[in-house]
Amino acid sequence: MSTARRHRLFEAGFRTIAATGADRWLAPLARGRGVILTFHHVRPEAPGAYAPNRLLAITPAFLDHVLTTLRRRGFAVIGLDAVPDRLAGTAGAPFAVLTFDDGYRDNVEHAAPILRRHGVPWTLFVTSDFAGGRGRLWWLELERAIGRLGRVRLPGTAIDLPAGSDAEKSHAFEAVYRHLRAGPEAALLAAIADLCGRAGLRPGDLAAELCLTWDDLRNLARDPMVTFGAHTVSHPMLAKHDAATLRREVEAGRDRLMRELGRPVRHLSYPVGDPTSAGPREFALARDLGFATAVTTRPGHLFAGHADHLHALPRVSVNGCHQSPAALAALLSGVPFLAWNRGRRLNVG
Ligand SMILES: [Zn+2]
Repeated sequence: MSTARRHRLFEAGFRTIAATGADRWLAPLARGRGVILTFHHVRPEAPGAYAPNRLLAITPAFLDHVLTTLRRRGFAVIGLDAVPDRLAGTAGAPFAVLTFDDGYRDNVEHAAPILRRHGVPWTLFVTSDFAGGRGRLWWLELERAIGRLGRVRLPGTAIDLPAGSDAEKSHAFEAVYRHLRAGPEAALLAAIADLCGRAGLRPGDLAAELCLTWDDLRNLARDPMVTFGAHTVSHPMLAKHDAATLRREVEAGRDRLMRELGRPVRHLSYPVGDPTSAGPREFALARDLGFATAVTTRPGHLFAGHADHLHALPRVSVNGCHQSPAALAALLSGVPFLAWNRGRRLNVG
């Protein structure tokens, strides 16, 4: 199924949930004790027709809508530090946690003023290489490279596609992304570096352009409402690497953050965070290294049972493709996850 078609189906599902009132009458069954929301970019610019990473960006106006809706629906916005106790204690008002991954400049420029105005705590997960102005934001490199190329060839594969129009570029992105994500990470990074080279781009330049520097982060650390979490050294799909790399990436990423910011770092976000990137071995390591919580990108609400799985917590992505009140209401109700998780409340294996 194409990405565009999948998005249309999701949007139709969200509208159905809203139209039938299912977000209200199923919520007592579907809604957990709380929800951890995931954000990436927050910026006002509207995406063009070719914007394959548009799911990772919402507008400041929609962030404001999210925060207003949380308050109206009775959610207490809490910090990640408070989550273990909230899960272990007796159920009260639902809670929400706001998490931002990767450490983008636009989080400080466009999100922080809104978060401050609403007086809510939030967590920023920082990849230490990105803060140092290097590393590979490969999903964005791939978008830019295909944006410049007229044809996309992946040597050693059957992929050889036209990329003249926006529709062709979108199709080529999806084909290359799907192929490379299924393989080893070294092959993915090499192939995208090669495409960047052919497009006249330097792989690795994007971190300095898009990400907060250590000085920016130290400034942000003066705000007591901000919690910093680790997001590894170089943003690898951890489950694809050996045990030594796994430990080095997680531990050194955390230690660098603590050294640079002079703050404890008690939380981890697994890069990419789906089951091909973070599984039982990663969850066990996060626990052994003493993290209080670790978050995935597996979709779902938090239930009392997650108190025993604090290093495999699901999150709900506030998706740039679905910036509508109906979509948000559905996500906060928990109803879509009943279907996605086939009725399971815990997906922690
Ligand atoms: Zn990330």
